[in-house]
Amino acid sequence: MITADLLVTDVREVATLARGAVPRTGAAMRELGLVHDAALAASGGRVVWVGPERHRARSVRLRPGARTVSAEGGVVVPGFVDAHTHAVFAGDRAFELPLKVAGASYAEIARRGGGLYATVRATRAASRARLLRESLFRVREMAAHGATSIEVKSGYALDVPGELRLLRLVPRLAERAGVTIVPTFLGAHAVPLEDRGRADAYVDRLVRHALPAVARERLARFCDVFCEPGFFSVRQSERLLRAALALGLGVKVHAEEFQLSGGARLAARLGATSADHLLRATVDDRRRLAAAGVTAVMLPATAFAATAARRSPCREFVDAGVPVALGTDCSPNSWVTSMPLVLALAVHGGRLTPAEALTAATVNAAHASGLAEAGRLVPGGPADFAVFALDATEQLGYRFDAVPVAVYRQGKRVSPS
Ligand code: FE
Repeated sequence: MITADLLVTDVREVATLARGAVPRTGAAMRELGLVHDAALAASGGRVVWVGPERHRARSVRLRPGARTVSAEGGVVVPGFVDAHTHAVFAGDRAFELPLKVAGASYAEIARRGGGLYATVRATRAASRARLLRESLFRVREMAAHGATSIEVKSGYALDVPGELRLLRLVPRLAERAGVTIVPTFLGAHAVPLEDRGRADAYVDRLVRHALPAVARERLARFCDVFCEPGFFSVRQSERLLRAALALGLGVKVHAEEFQLSGGARLAARLGATSADHLLRATVDDRRRLAAAGVTAVMLPATAFAATAARRSPCREFVDAGVPVALGTDCSPNSWVTSMPLVLALAVHGGRLTPAEALTAATVNAAHASGLAEAGRLVPGGPADFAVFALDATEQLGYRFDAVPVAVYRQGKRVSPS
């Protein structure tokens, strides 16, 4: 008999995502491993049993003091994994919106004091306490929308000590919010203004000074780079990512977002964990990413937020056999903390089915974030889950602004707190 200290009952449907290879591709992305009229039991923060409610009494014994939670006929899904965020920054850029909607170019917005460098100024100037407070607000909001694991990139300091300072905030942020955070070093988010025209020198500092410190202090699991004309070239990106690989970090690439950058091909060549954005990626890029087994992290909210709106090509990537994952890309440029909203955008703009979107937001996003156990509800895995007052899990993607009634990470309730 299995013993448990947490039992979730009266679940109309649970999506376990239990079966199949990780990450999922093609038709396997539509297999949710549903169990109907179900219960879920956990012990010590780990799932110990998932099955039909009618089998529960003979399979699971509750320990004295165990908690029983009713899902009240709602659905249970694995806690979302947000595979791509820029959640650590200070300030906001709401003032840009009137310019954006009037059709101002990025250069024009930058001239008027906006754009990425405005956030760099605010972030450099912010105290540790302010950065923590503002970032914590966002991460808690992500958790309240069902995310239990969140990838967080640095990238708004753009100097070696500043980037390390942002990454050093992450453990505190994770602890305070009660979620798992996977830190990514994105010192190469843009060339700092003071190094304009000297990108090579900046990359050199990142390779010589930042990456060794990141590896030594274990400040990040991944290194990412904004590989795009006007940011970092393929050659500069490759130098940085090869140095990161040599230090034992995983690598990711911001690729083909505004223009064809060659970043997707670089990701395939290096066997990167993921290539992200990919709005302009070609058929050949998709073929290469599929062959190399690189996960495509799709960020449909960012495509939506851009004034030159492009739909996120989620469907094309799934059809090409590329594992597809989802993220909010939460940043001052597209401030989104809701994974259910991202699922809805992946369905309505990206043309995924709700089942594919849920797979992309859970098991595939976990893979893209280097989390082998997250994104599924299987015995032995973490008891990370969200309860929604929905009639079916596939209503995620249909209900744009679904909010979970409860979110648990490792068997502990993180939202509402
Ligand atoms: Fe990004």
